[in-house]
Amino acid sequence: MMKDIATPQRTKEILNKYGFNFKKSLGQNFLIDTNVLRNIVAAADITDETGVIEVGPGIGALTEQLAKRAKKVVSFEIDQRLLPVLDDTLQPYENVEIIHSDVLKADIQGTIDQQFEGVEDLMVVANLPYYVTTPILMKLLEEHLPVRGIVVMIQAEVADRIAAKPGTKEYGALSIAAQYYATAEKVMTVPGTVFMPQPRVDSAVLRLTIREEPAVAVQDEAYFFKVFHACFANRRKTILNNLVHNLGPKEKKVEIEAALQEANIDPKRRGETLSLDEFGKLSDALLKRL
Ligand code: SAM
Repeated sequence: MMKDIATPQRTKEILNKYGFNFKKSLGQNFLIDTNVLRNIVAAADITDETGVIEVGPGIGALTEQLAKRAKKVVSFEIDQRLLPVLDDTLQPYENVEIIHSDVLKADIQGTIDQQFEGVEDLMVVANLPYYVTTPILMKLLEEHLPVRGIVVMIQAEVADRIAAKPGTKEYGALSIAAQYYATAEKVMTVPGTVFMPQPRVDSAVLRLTIREEPAVAVQDEAYFFKVFHACFANRRKTILNNLVHNLGPKEKKVEIEAALQEANIDPKRRGETLSLDEFGKLSDALLKRL
């Protein structure tokens, strides 16, 4: 039987066969540790009923482990040079579809409609290219895709920020944006040695479980996002100062003070101390005064 793609030896053989050299600009750090891959797949709780959307299959290390367990895997890969490699390495798996596309430009909902007809359980699983971690995660969350969750390998520091609780130094706009749509947990941290080439930063597996309803009910989602981003524009400033300087020309200081009072929030507090609920109340109170 053929060895798994994700062994150092087979990865080297594949890279040599195709004369492939890594493009740092595309965040190409391939996994070469089958144990880590098994842990990622286990964290996603995949069964033979599950459809999986993958971002960046590389030479197919994670794709292969997903294909062995899932009903179907659809992977978006931006690098054309990898298409013939994937044709070869994933040839034994009939349930894999590779889409040559920048995932940030892809119509993911359209792809789900086309590729996963009748599949009720969908997951996103990926070892993400680190240069675009946040835009990819935000796109996946903001598009309200019909997925159960997202399990991704990302920079450990970004995983900490996404899963952070109020009052910690990691808590910020990214924590609120992600936790609005999903519950977030860091599943494990991994050393650089499980990648080829080794990235300079530590990595972690993050699991996002999509909420049935967003964490807080707000009247205007886009405005809520504007409000909490403004509150973190300068972490050393108070909420009042951040809102006055960063929210927009329409919102005046008196109105902002009144909204803070209505939401029962001390204007001298800093953004990092506010819960999602408080940001929700603040957003609605400000919106009323526009
Ligand atoms: N899944 C493979 C693994 O674990 O070994 C490769 C992961 S590597 C960290 C990231 C992959 O994402 C690379 O194959 C890279 O070419 C691809 N990629 C980078 N930017 C992308 C984008 N915007 N859309 C789709 N794929 C992208």
